[in-house]
Amino acid sequence: NKRIKIKELLQQEPAAQQVTVMGWVRTFRNNQFIALNDGSTNTNLQVVATLGMFEESLLKRITTSASLKITGTVVPSVGKGQKLEVKAETIEILGDSDAEAYPLQPKKHSLEFLREKAHLRFRTNTFGSVFRVRHALAFAVHKFFNEKGFVYLHTPIITASDAEGAGEMFRVTTLPFEDTPRNDDGSINFKEDFFGKSTNLTVSGQLEGELGATAFGEIYTFGPTFRAENSNTARHLAEFWMIEPEMAFYDLEDNANLAEAFIKYIIRYVLENNREDLDFLAQRLADEEKQLPQDKRSEMGLIEKLEFVLNNDFQRLSYTEAIDILRESNYNKKKKFQYPVTGWGMDLQSEHERYLVEKHFKKPVILMNYPASIKAFYMRINEDGKTVAAMDILAPGIGEIVGGSQREERLDVLLEKMEKMGIPEEELWWYLDTRRFGTVPHAGFGLGFERMIQFVTGMSNIRDVIAFPRTPKSAEF
Ligand code: ATP
Ligand code: MG
Ligand code: MG
Ligand code: MG
Repeated sequence: NKRIKIKELLQQEPAAQQVTVMGWVRTFRNNQFIALNDGSTNTNLQVVATLGMFEESLLKRITTSASLKITGTVVPSVGKGQKLEVKAETIEILGDSDAEAYPLQPKKHSLEFLREKAHLRFRTNTFGSVFRVRHALAFAVHKFFNEKGFVYLHTPIITASDAEGAGEMFRVTTLPFEDTPRNDDGSINFKEDFFGKSTNLTVSGQLEGELGATAFGEIYTFGPTFRAENSNTARHLAEFWMIEPEMAFYDLEDNANLAEAFIKYIIRYVLENNREDLDFLAQRLADEEKQLPQDKRSEMGLIEKLEFVLNNDFQRLSYTEAIDILRESNYNKKKKFQYPVTGWGMDLQSEHERYLVEKHFKKPVILMNYPASIKAFYMRINEDGKTVAAMDILAPGIGEIVGGSQREERLDVLLEKMEKMGIPEEELWWYLDTRRFGTVPHAGFGLGFERMIQFVTGMSNIRDVIAFPRTPKSAEF
């Protein structure tokens, strides 16, 4: 198989060399010009089937989406917009395609339509670009942590830990439905359903990650995460990927510095390595925004926005400062928030987060030091006794992309808090051991990978940045 990928071929000079290319037909014009795509780039290769050289019976089979193997000579192209083309010498049909029945036409389809054709949507330019960028971001995640000496720790998918109720859980059971153990009132006895134990799909690898951090110093986990979110927002999936680094000897500021450096690193990586796809997505977004009224359009194009993020510090502020800004805002005074901002202690809704990043600061924001009462038990209590060393990172157009904190490393403080919150010590004996045997200050965060991809690609719906979206309404295959 001496196949050359189209992306690689298009970078070469047309030096009359012989090549073999394989791919799918996007269009076939004038019984002569094949636009061939092999998934390596959105740019189609023009293949010329010189008139008279091929049987009519073969040409008839060159239909949209048919797969072909072509050998030919690379020649300079006279057409504009392309440097070279391939003059076909042999054309072999690998797989026929009935163009009438093929669901994707060579025109532009709506994202909603393509979501219904999720099994074929990878063959469109938009999804080609999105998933090549997703791949590159995933690679950049590993590259960043590897360069920093972090250990990639695989935290379990099936776990008995509920990670302090970070989200609704999917239960895992080994038993046929009729054998499911029941309580006296007929409800399911979850405590006994996985080989006699209670287990669920992971909602976060954090607690297990802390075990790694307190041995290796710095670890990260990057894997699928499951939350039975029975909501239909454009930013929540029931199955998503999370990147969770956990670091010993870090305080909240170190944590925020790492998160900011990390986000900038992976954005820089794709700007440098995936420019063609990003330019395509930027154009797509610009075209889409042209349909919007002037005041709803973004101030910056996609590339400009990404470069802006690279070149500016994230805005850091405390929850307390944020509440003041929100309370005093015109939005609040004119009752434009669905949830009015009443005062200190309330949890922020996504409309508030988006106001801060999009209207007030117009840049990514790191919000720190939230009230202890609205955050999880493991976050470290600050000197003031009422806030915890938590941080959320909010991105324009998305809202929360990161949730993190410095962890409570003091055993006595942690135990007292767990008791107050009604978390039984026996359930977390393994976690508490890290505080018993050589406890250290440590911190970590979780970045939602799909939300990051939304930010980088400008795709407004999270269903369009994951290959097989799992939401309450979609799990067909
Ligand atoms: P949100 O407030 O948006 O529901 P969260 O506070 O419940 O998010 P965390 O528990 O802090 O989320 O998880 C860390 C990160 O994982 C979030 O900042 C977000 O980027 C991502 N995330 C959380 N839930 C989902 C979901 N259902 N689908 C996709 N990404 C998610
Ligand atoms: Mg949530
Ligand atoms: Mg949140
Ligand atoms: Mg959060």
